[in-house]
Amino acid sequence: MLTLVRQLVELEKRRRDYCSDPREPADRCDRCGAQAYLRVVLMSGGELLFCAHHGRKFEPELKKIAAEIQDETERLTAVPASASDEDR
Ligand SMILES: [Zn+2]
Repeated sequence: MLTLVRQLVELEKRRRDYCSDPREPADRCDRCGAQAYLRVVLMSGGELLFCAHHGRKFEPELKKIAAEIQDETERLTAVPASASDEDR
């Protein structure tokens, strides 16, 4: 299964080369393109993004290569109190 993760890392590198505009928020799942809620910072550098579904699916593998995993799946249910500031 680690080969799959390596493929993902390669994919991420390629995406970085391709998408060089730093203003473009690439918070999309690397597997399905859905909204990403899991940011995986790799020990080898770079990072991967996953939706809640794929984040959970790959978590055991990702933990082996990740320096840090930022789980933001809570955002799926929790809405920040200040989120509706522009609604006035
Ligand atoms: Zn996904």
